Amino acid sequence: MNEEIQEKSNYCLNCKIKPCSNKGCPLNNDIPAFIKKIKEQNYEEAYKILSKTTVLQPICGRICPHKKQCQGSCVRGIKGKPVSIGEMEAFVGDYGIKNNLQIEKNVVERLLDRKVAVVGGGPAGLTCAAFLARRGVNVTIYERNSFLGGLLMYGIPDFRLSKKIIEDTVEKILNLGIDVKYNQELGKNLRLESLEKEYDYIYLAFGANVSTKMGIDGEQLAGVFGGNELLEKSGHPDYTGKTVIVNGGGNVAIDVARTVKRKGAKDVIIVYRRAKEQMPAEEKEVEDAEKEGIKIWFQNNIVKINGLEKVENVELIKTKLIQKEGELRLSPVNIEGSNFIQNADYVIMALGAKTDKFVENLNLNLDSKNYICVNEKFQTSNPKIYAGGDLIGGNGTVAWAARSGRDAAESIKEFLEK
Ligand code: SF4
Repeated sequence: MNEEIQEKSNYCLNCKIKPCSNKGCPLNNDIPAFIKKIKEQNYEEAYKILSKTTVLQPICGRICPHKKQCQGSCVRGIKGKPVSIGEMEAFVGDYGIKNNLQIEKNVVERLLDRKVAVVGGGPAGLTCAAFLARRGVNVTIYERNSFLGGLLMYGIPDFRLSKKIIEDTVEKILNLGIDVKYNQELGKNLRLESLEKEYDYIYLAFGANVSTKMGIDGEQLAGVFGGNELLEKSGHPDYTGKTVIVNGGGNVAIDVARTVKRKGAKDVIIVYRRAKEQMPAEEKEVEDAEKEGIKIWFQNNIVKINGLEKVENVELIKTKLIQKEGELRLSPVNIEGSNFIQNADYVIMALGAKTDKFVENLNLNLDSKNYICVNEKFQTSNPKIYAGGDLIGGNGTVAWAARSGRDAAESIKEFLEK
């Protein structure tokens, strides 16, 4: 493995302008610097360099959409293959775990008696907690599940990211001295007002995991599920010998389709309104899904779900793509009269996710889509409360969520130091 990684690192040009880092990586990891340390076989130093900007190396190294982020901006990629940045990041993260390297602390004395509560232990919450704790702040994470990791744990199937890697990464973060209170859910057994009394600041990062609906006939039938809820709560029915339609084109659609196929479904069909090139899911995940026998019907749309009490079939319509004035990408338009019926036992909606309705009770300003509004410091309309990750309507990637957590930690630290 080390020789392979050495070979990969030697392919990096160590560019001075480093677009991989400045333009491609949402966390601005210093990619040429950590790769240089790999070339020198100084893996400990490579880990230190990466840890300056991220605490999720083994995870981001594996599941980030590298082609759209760092590797998509790599100079090597202009004429040939880009540098395998993701693989190297995962290697360094794994090295840190195997060799028990700790995330470096840089404690600020006067922060030692300050307290911050982080609500939600997913990528944004964990990152914010870590970047505060390494400066000496007393951080407590309030997590609604009995485990940390959030969507990393339940939203990404084991075949893409093993639970062991998440657990090891979380353990390293907690080693910074972070306290965790499990099974604590805002709106249920946890009150924002109580946290406000107890802590200097609060960071909200409990995500947005309620599947969006299409608003079509038949969506209320038994056998129609939300993709996010299925992945989170694992309430799968018995798919043996069944036909399952998955509606959507993002990673959740692909993840849920592959999970259902593994659970014994006979036919799994992903329905996507646009063309393959426009699919937001990672190209590799799409290829793997196709290899596993999952069909993807591009430029099709669901019009109606039919059945008496439960799903019996789905009415679909073909779409064409047209350029609408003022829109950057091609828009799908239904082709009149191209409707057809496909038998189905289950339909899974994986069109995106929104926040839980209870955010309306938090007394914070929300935007028109019910995301929490924040300023450039990630501060909400209540100056004591910050928010980040999917709760503020990000782009849904782990690296972006982590960046919002790190930036919020920096802002909170600034205010604590005043
Ligand atoms: Fe290396 Fe590519 Fe980044 Fe240049 S752009 S430093 S070749 S990873």
